[in-house]
Amino acid sequence: MKKHEVIKVENLTKYFKIKKGFLSNFSKSKQEYIYAVNNISFSIGEKEILGFIGESGCGKSTMSRSILRLIEPSSGTISFKGKDILALNSKDLRKYRRKMQMIFQDPFGSLNPRRTVADTLRQTVKIHKLAETIDEEDKLIKEAMEEVELIPVEEYWDKYPALLSGGQQQRVSMGRVIILKPEFVIADEPVSMLDVSVRIGVLKLILKMKEKHNISFIYITHDLSTARYVCDRIAIMYLGKIVEIGPTEEILANPVHPYTQALIKAVPDIDPTVKVKEIPIKGYVPVVPGEGVNCSFYPRCPYADEQCNNEMPTMKKVGDDHFVACFKR
Ligand code: ATP
Repeated sequence: MKKHEVIKVENLTKYFKIKKGFLSNFSKSKQEYIYAVNNISFSIGEKEILGFIGESGCGKSTMSRSILRLIEPSSGTISFKGKDILALNSKDLRKYRRKMQMIFQDPFGSLNPRRTVADTLRQTVKIHKLAETIDEEDKLIKEAMEEVELIPVEEYWDKYPALLSGGQQQRVSMGRVIILKPEFVIADEPVSMLDVSVRIGVLKLILKMKEKHNISFIYITHDLSTARYVCDRIAIMYLGKIVEIGPTEEILANPVHPYTQALIKAVPDIDPTVKVKEIPIKGYVPVVPGEGVNCSFYPRCPYADEQCNNEMPTMKKVGDDHFVACFKR
């Protein structure tokens, strides 16, 4: 284990059976699988934010849910501070769940509309038995509300989610996480449903949580601008695989994989000083059954040749802590 490594994921794979139509039950065709997450490895250090970036369907959510064991991975290993998460029984897993939390994309959908801010936080306190008396509960709730800047506290204490803005609702969700004092948090597109004007406040809160409470994060997004604001490193995902990973500024200044170059090119205002050659890729992430025997980006890649069609590229080092899976770059 590397020093201060909080999360280590090795060869994580999660596949789903493709549902067969009624008629195919009579055919001899064999069962096919979608490899939503396909043999990925990475680690996250203490107080580090690793961003996962990719188009819809590339496997970001399946990866997150697998790491938290909200779904069971098909294979691979996941360790939290050296402890094998996949080997934990349900009782031990419950203890670890408290340390590993998730912030969801849709704050309103994740809150009970019939619970006030204080009741929402109180429910978390009660479920996890964090306090013995009502006064202790109130103290924890007040501290969490101050932490996520729902202040003055008395103004928000009895408010229902419908009376809060999107940014304030996301702060309640974050309060519910912070009250548990987690060490690792997965933020799954936490600002994508928020108005642009309130996004920066929520991103600042994530940075504050990281610094003040030594929390390590996975930050999932398809938006490079917000990733640039919060992430120490970024991993670019395509069809269940990491195709490039490295320090955020290094990748933005020197993207190596053609897919990364195309993603950066699609965000013209990310940094006007970054000059990236236009990469003509079209279409969406396809759904391709099976584990794959070649580069999954091959059909959309302007540089692809026979090798890309016949072999699977492995990660190679292209810079300081910067790796890419591509034959042609
Ligand atoms: P989005 O940004 O839209 O949430 P994503 O990058 O998080 O997308 P996933 O939701 O992880 O991607 O999905 C990855 C692939 O796995 C997709 O092709 C999806 O259709 C497939 N998939 C996800 N969950 C299931 C499931 N329960 N059964 C079958 N296929 C699934």
